[in-house]
Amino acid sequence: MAGVIRRLDETVVNRIAAGEVIQRPANAVKEMIENCLDAKSTSIQVTVKDGGLKLLQIQDNGTGIRKEDMEIVCERFTTSKLQTFEDLSSIATYGFRGEALASISHVAHVTITTKTADAKCAYRANYSDGKLKGPPKPCAGNQGTQILVEDLFYNVSTRRKALKSPSDEYSRIVEVVGRYAIHNSGKSFSVKKQGETVADVRTLPNASVVDNIRGIFGNAVSRELIEVACEDQKLAYKMKGYISNANYSVKKCILILFINHRLVESSALKKAIETVYAAYLPKNTHPFLYLSLEIAPQNVDVNVHPTKHEVHFLHEDSVIESVQKHIESKLLGSNSSRTYFTQTLLPGLSVSGNTEVKASSTTSESSERVYAHQMVRTDCRTQKLDAFLQPKEKPLPDPEPAGPSSGQTAIKAIQADSIEIDDVDDSDMLEALAEQEAEVPKVLQPPPEKRPRTEQKEQQQEEGEDLTAAATPKRRLIKLNSIKELRAEITENTHKGLQEMMQNHSFVGCVNPQWSLVQHHTKLYLLNTNKLSQELFYQILIYDFGNFGVLRLSTPAPLYDLAMLALESEESGWTEEDGPKEGLAQYIVDFLKKKAEMLEDYFSMEIDQEGNLLGLPLLLDNYTPVMEGLPMFILRLATEVNWDGEKDCFRDFSKECSMFYSIRKQYILEAEPGEEQGTEVKSWQWKVEHLIFKAFRTLFSPPKSFSEDGTVLQIANLPDLYKVFERC
Ligand code: ADP
Ligand code: MG
Repeated sequence: MAGVIRRLDETVVNRIAAGEVIQRPANAVKEMIENCLDAKSTSIQVTVKDGGLKLLQIQDNGTGIRKEDMEIVCERFTTSKLQTFEDLSSIATYGFRGEALASISHVAHVTITTKTADAKCAYRANYSDGKLKGPPKPCAGNQGTQILVEDLFYNVSTRRKALKSPSDEYSRIVEVVGRYAIHNSGKSFSVKKQGETVADVRTLPNASVVDNIRGIFGNAVSRELIEVACEDQKLAYKMKGYISNANYSVKKCILILFINHRLVESSALKKAIETVYAAYLPKNTHPFLYLSLEIAPQNVDVNVHPTKHEVHFLHEDSVIESVQKHIESKLLGSNSSRTYFTQTLLPGLSVSGNTEVKASSTTSESSERVYAHQMVRTDCRTQKLDAFLQPKEKPLPDPEPAGPSSGQTAIKAIQADSIEIDDVDDSDMLEALAEQEAEVPKVLQPPPEKRPRTEQKEQQQEEGEDLTAAATPKRRLIKLNSIKELRAEITENTHKGLQEMMQNHSFVGCVNPQWSLVQHHTKLYLLNTNKLSQELFYQILIYDFGNFGVLRLSTPAPLYDLAMLALESEESGWTEEDGPKEGLAQYIVDFLKKKAEMLEDYFSMEIDQEGNLLGLPLLLDNYTPVMEGLPMFILRLATEVNWDGEKDCFRDFSKECSMFYSIRKQYILEAEPGEEQGTEVKSWQWKVEHLIFKAFRTLFSPPKSFSEDGTVLQIANLPDLYKVFERC
C-alpha cells in the first residue's frame, strides 16, 4: 500500500529548517554576533541563563533596525544583505541567507529592542514562528540592537532533551564569544551568566590580538606565540595570525580558524598543521593557533553545511599546502634562534649541597617516588674499563710519528724520543725531599750550602711543630708566605657548588680539544677543557710547590734552540725592531740559567750549566704536556714573568707553566699518533678523560668566575628534555 503524500504544515517545515541552522545555543549566539558585527557594532555583550536554554541576550551598539523592517526581520529569507543571486558570490558579510533570526524565532520566543541613529526612540517587538506578534512599541533605549531569545527549543522536546547540560552549553557559548573577541580585537566583547557581575570573557576596545589571547587562553601560551602572515596572489588568499612555538603544547589542538571573518572549521587544514607540529612537540600534545584566512569570496563554498560551520574552497589543497609551508618555516626559524649557550648561571648547583638528590637507582630506598625524568642514570663512582689500560712505560710516541713537517720538525724530534718519566720510586723521592726539608728557605735565598747552619736548625724545629695530618711526614713543608697567600686565594675563591659538580660528575665525552661534556645529576654541562685544565695545573703548581717529581728529557734540549723556534713563530710577535733573534735567544738562555737553581728547587725544572733543559715538573701522573708548546713557554718565562717580587714570580711562573701544560686546541694535532692502533700512547681524549677530569674529582677548587664567564655552561636538564622528547 503506497503512502499518501501530504504537504507538511508550514510551521513544521520551518521548525525542521530551524533545527538545521540552530542546533544548540552556541550556534544562535554565533549567528547573532555576526549580525551585530555586520551592523558595525564595536561593543557586544552577551548574557546567558541556563546555558542559553532559558535566556540568551545579545546587546550591541550597531546601526539598529529600522522600524519599517521590524515586521519582516524574522521571516525566512529576509535580509538586508543580498538582493540578487549573483550577490551570493561576492558577498563578504557573515550571514546572508536571512535564515538566522527566522530560525531562532521558530524555536524560541524572540524579543527585539532596537534604535537607529535617526529614530527618536527605540522600538520593541515580540516574535513567534517568524511572525511579529504585535506592532512594535516605542520605548527607551540606546542606539543599537538587543535581541532576547527565551526558552530555546521550547517546542522541540527532542532537541531540548539532547542538550542535557547547561554548563556544557554555556562553555560552548563562552568559547564562541572568546574566539570572535580575539578575531575582532579593537572591539569589546563580554559574556556572563545572568545575575553575575563578573564576566567570563571580557575584552577591551584597545586590546591587541595577543592581549586578548592572553586574557582568554592565559599567559603560558601568549608568551610563546609567533606571528605569522603570508599571501599568495595566484591562489587568491591571504593569511595572518599567531601560532604557538615548539616550547608550548596542549593536550588538545586549539585551532581558531576564521575564513573571511567567519569562525569555521577545516579538518583538512587542521590535519596538515598537526603534521608539521608533530616534528616539534612531545607525543600526544598539540599546538595553539589562531589563523585568519581571507579567500576571494567567489572561491568559497559556504553552503556545504547549513550552519556554515565546515567550509570548502577552491584550490583547497594548494592553499592548505601553502599555509602549511609557511607555518613550518616560522617554526623552524623560531627553533634555530633559540640560544642554548647564553646561560652561564648554574641553577641548582649553588644549592645542590642542601637539596637531596632525587634518584639514582642506588638510593631507591627513599619512599618518595622518582619519576623517569628525575632519574639519574649514571654513577660517577663507576669507572670505565679503559681507565685501567693506561700506558705503563714510555708515554710518548715512536721516533717517527706521522706529524707535520717544516718548522715543527725540531720540536717533533724533542717530543719523539727525548722524554721519559723520571723513574723515581715515590718513596725514594719523598725521602730525598725530606732531606731537603730543613733547607727550605723562607724567601728566595742562596743555595742551601751557603746558608748558616743555625737557620737550618731553627727551621727544622718549627716545621716539626707544624706538622699536621694533611702534611705527610715525608712531604717537604712550604712555609713561604707568598705561597700560603696564593693557596688562600685559591681556597677563598672556590665555588662550592661547582666543586661538588666537578667531584661527582660523570664524564660524557670530548666535543673537541676545547670542550667536554659532563653529566651531573640530571643536568648536562659543557666545560671549557682549556680553561679548567690550566686552572688545575696552576693549583697543582701552587699546592705542590717544592714537591714535584721530574719529567726528565732523555736528550737535553738546548734553551737557545727553543728560544729561536719561539722567536721564529708568528705567535711571539717578534719584529725587526726587537733586534736580532740570535741576540734575544742568547739573552733568554743566560737569564734562565741564572734562575736555574730556584727553578729546579721549587718547580723541578732542570737547566744545566750549558743552558740545556733537562727536566720539567711532573704535575700529574702519566701526563706530559704537548711539546709543541715548549718553545713559547721558554720565551714567555723570559718576557711574561715578574722575577723581582717573590709572590708575583711564583704566581706568574705557575700561570705560564700551567698554560703550557693545559689542553690547548692549537697544540692538538689532527692525526694524533696516539690514535693509531698498536701504539702505547693514548689519545688526547684519553688524557682529558682519565688524567685531567680524574684530577678534577680530587685536586680541584674551581674559582667562582667559572660559573659566570662561560667556562661551565649548563646546556640541558633532563626534566626539560623530557618535555621535548616525550614523543620519541
Ligand atoms: P542575515 O544575517 O542572513 O541577513 P538574519 O536572519 O541573521 O539574516 O538577519 C536578518 C536581518 O536582520 C539582517 O539582514 C539585518 O538587516 C537585520 N539584523 C539582524 N540582527 C541585527 C543587528 N544586531 N543589528 C542590526 N540589524 C540586524
Ligand atoms: Mg545573520
